[in-house]
Amino acid sequence: MKTATSTIGLVGLAVMGQNLSLNVAEKGFPISVYNRSYDKTEAAVARAKKEGLGDKLRGFKEVKDFVASLEKPRRVIILVKAGAPVDSTIDALMEYMEPGDIIIDGGNEWYENTERRKEMVEAKGLRYMGMGVSGGEEGARNGPALMPGGSPEAYKYIESVVSKVAAQVDDGPCVMYVGDGGAGNFVKMVHNGIEYGDMQLISEAYDVLRVLGGLSNDDMAATFKAWNEGELQSFLIEISAIIMAKKDDQEGKKGYIIDHIVDKTGAKGTGKWTVQQAAELAVAAPTIAASLDGRYMSALKEERTAASALFAGLGLKAPTAPKGVDKKALIEDVRQALYCSKITSYAQGMNIIKAKSDEKAWGVDLGGLARIWKGGCIIRAQFLDRIKQAYRRDPKLPNLLVDPPFAEDLAKREQAWRRVVALAITNGVPVPGMTASLGYFDTYRRERLPANLVQAQRDFFGSHTYQRDDAPEAQWFHTLWDPNF
Ligand code: NAP
Repeated sequence: MKTATSTIGLVGLAVMGQNLSLNVAEKGFPISVYNRSYDKTEAAVARAKKEGLGDKLRGFKEVKDFVASLEKPRRVIILVKAGAPVDSTIDALMEYMEPGDIIIDGGNEWYENTERRKEMVEAKGLRYMGMGVSGGEEGARNGPALMPGGSPEAYKYIESVVSKVAAQVDDGPCVMYVGDGGAGNFVKMVHNGIEYGDMQLISEAYDVLRVLGGLSNDDMAATFKAWNEGELQSFLIEISAIIMAKKDDQEGKKGYIIDHIVDKTGAKGTGKWTVQQAAELAVAAPTIAASLDGRYMSALKEERTAASALFAGLGLKAPTAPKGVDKKALIEDVRQALYCSKITSYAQGMNIIKAKSDEKAWGVDLGGLARIWKGGCIIRAQFLDRIKQAYRRDPKLPNLLVDPPFAEDLAKREQAWRRVVALAITNGVPVPGMTASLGYFDTYRRERLPANLVQAQRDFFGSHTYQRDDAPEAQWFHTLWDPNF
């Protein structure tokens, strides 16, 4: 058995675990690694050697030896498939771990599973954390955004490691203790929901510019590149520019890869959970919901193809560029529409987190969260600094839309936003994310909504009663609307 000299251990050496373990080793922390199938452990050890980190990373075939190789209190990060594999990994570890030791699940786990496991692990005297890890393979290797939640005492024992391993931005490492229980997993889940929104909105911008603006892939690449220099600067815009410009890599094929990628989007569940949670918490999140629906509808390729043919036969042709479109003006309008929609989408995501944090008394620092998302993660963007500042100005901000600088941005850009949505709708290009965002904005800023009629209908058919604007709030009225009903 090797001596107990590793600062930390990691179980699960697929894409995320292998890369994160190399990152930990590179930051100078000796790490022990273990994987259910030994071939992945061998691969991690070989890669560590190849990258000059052989002395910092040790692989183990047996859980017992792996656990014994760790300094006490032992700290073990798990990065296996979420769900049952996490339970069986915890069971295996707990045979050898001791009171005071710490287990940190870094997977995309459902937050309630983390809360259940935390209770179970703590009953045995160990400590438990659920830590959101974002940034994919590249982030894990070079610096992810980390969202640890759970035992606050345990965090003290991992802080020095995670602060070095996380991405570094102008105002510090992209990690902070998020809150107790499953807070870390919850905020990571909403991060992914926001990511769905960003991706949907960018794809809509692409569709409008391509179909209605007649932009070529090279034009699109140049447009995204230019946008990445301004207020839309973000990882997703940056990679979109690269994607648009990428020539076909299949032998004998010409053109661009993007034009041959089947228009069906996969999903692993965090977007769905975000929308479910929004509904549970009674928080409106129409942009994120539209992006989830967008993925579901994209999967209906055969149905869409049949419907397209059916409606073409009825005279509804596929959308094309209308005559006389001013390309330059359209590009600028779409840029502004994308920016406004993005603010709106983030407002929804932040409000989901705020509602859950209030319900669970997690005390999540929304400004701090925006700060740690500035680097490492998929939604990283310059824009997140403005969100940080908004919550620093007013930690109780009810909605990002009413932060004074964001409100000014929206007011200045709303006409462009409307022009894009109107043009798309008129010409049959679906922009459900931008439309949902604009609807959210218009609903939120409207003093009087037609909800009076809905409430009257409820009273009509169900005696649900209503309040009047000329009577005290506590007073409820019921009307017999029509004796014939
Ligand atoms: P993954 O494909 O989700 O899972 C594969 C890993 O899980 C392998 O190490 C596998 O071991 C292990 N595993 C599966 N079933 C097991 C079981 N019953 N018992 C023990 N181990 C089991 O791996 P990943 O993509 O690296 O992701 C790891 C976690 O990070 C997931 O929760 C994922 O959602 C999350 N995440 C992923 C990304 C990403 O970009 N991929 C980004 C952020 C977060 P074997 O080798 O023995 O099969």
